[in-house]
Amino acid sequence: MQIIPKKTASVETHWKKELANTFNDLYELLNFLQIKEKNIPLAYRQRIECLAAESDSENNNIHTFNGKTQNKNTINIQPSQSIINKHNGARKLFPMRVPRPFAALMEKGNWHDPLLQQVIPQNAEFEERVGFVSDPLEEQNGSVEGLIHKYKSRVLIVVKGGCAVNCRYCFRRHFPYQSNQLNKKKYEQILDYIRNDTHINEVILSGGDPLMAKDEHLSWLIHELNQINNIKRIRVHTRLPVVIPSRINDEFISVVSSCSSKLIMVLHINHPNEISDELKSKMDWLKQNNVTLLNQSVLLAGINNNANVLSELSEALFATNILPYYLHLLDPVKGASHFDVNKNDARQIMSELYNTLPGFLVPKLVQELPNRKSKTPIDLGLE
Ligand SMILES: *Cc1c(COP(=O)(O)O)cnc(C)c1O
Ligand code: SF4
Repeated sequence: MQIIPKKTASVETHWKKELANTFNDLYELLNFLQIKEKNIPLAYRQRIECLAAESDSENNNIHTFNGKTQNKNTINIQPSQSIINKHNGARKLFPMRVPRPFAALMEKGNWHDPLLQQVIPQNAEFEERVGFVSDPLEEQNGSVEGLIHKYKSRVLIVVKGGCAVNCRYCFRRHFPYQSNQLNKKKYEQILDYIRNDTHINEVILSGGDPLMAKDEHLSWLIHELNQINNIKRIRVHTRLPVVIPSRINDEFISVVSSCSSKLIMVLHINHPNEISDELKSKMDWLKQNNVTLLNQSVLLAGINNNANVLSELSEALFATNILPYYLHLLDPVKGASHFDVNKNDARQIMSELYNTLPGFLVPKLVQELPNRKSKTPIDLGLE
């Protein structure tokens, strides 16, 4: 049998097609996952009914779980106007976004699937909790637009607002990306700033997700950074290859191989089920091109807050050529308090990880606090 190589162009359009094809509609996603109404907890079902009533209030139709619509007047749902307004507002603020390749990794029929639970809008997002605020890291007032310089030797560029996936626990869910769109002039300011502070030796491309940017954009930026003498390393913080592995294509590999500084990719993977065969082959490809691969996870209640899941994750990462780097305590962002794991439980999990894994597969448990010179390691009290 003859193997016909895929054309580069079709691969290039592929990830953008995947972006365009993302699930934005709850019903479509639940139908795709074959999740029946009876599998959904009651409180959540009521919320879905509110959303249904709101999304189709114009034509009086309501979506049902088999994908059909029904006239609203024939269903006995009367969500209060205030609830509808709340949901409306929340969805505008942070809509649901789930790429199909990521949805394909979820278990069919399982409402509690750990991948699904990271991305599905939750009733609990409207719960207010003291200390959970919209800008927990106090990042929204930097001096150069698009640049965050918190730690001495490294700066972070907000290359692109927005992500392929919207994670419900995201600490940047309230970030004002609109006012942070970079153009050439703003980039000149950023590059000048980096050139003028020789303490800076590493640039982190972040966002949102920096791989939402076109390869031309990344190529230009990396080229510019390569001209700056003090820059030794470029780091890319991304979740995109996890949710759309085809993002790693020939064009991106050309960008990578044109980079003369050391290149590091820090992936964001929270659960072993997120590691697909396709992701693994893409990571092999990056490794062959001398990219150092690391991972950061967020410790999330109901998703990965147990030592078995996290040690499986570390093993799966290593098998994918990725080393665990950080395990973050949740940033106290408004709307995400239901994902919080308290420090004592986190310590207990960490001590079990040390008893199970070789040291190099144990991520560092850290917290990000405003106005600190680095991430803050959590004292595990294991002495
Ligand atoms: C996390 C972070 C970094 C990188 O910190 P490392 O400990 O080097 O991984 C840099 N800048 C900002 C603003 C950060 O949030
Ligand atoms: S990919 Fe990262 S930045 Fe984007 S929504 Fe998820 S956690 Fe937030």
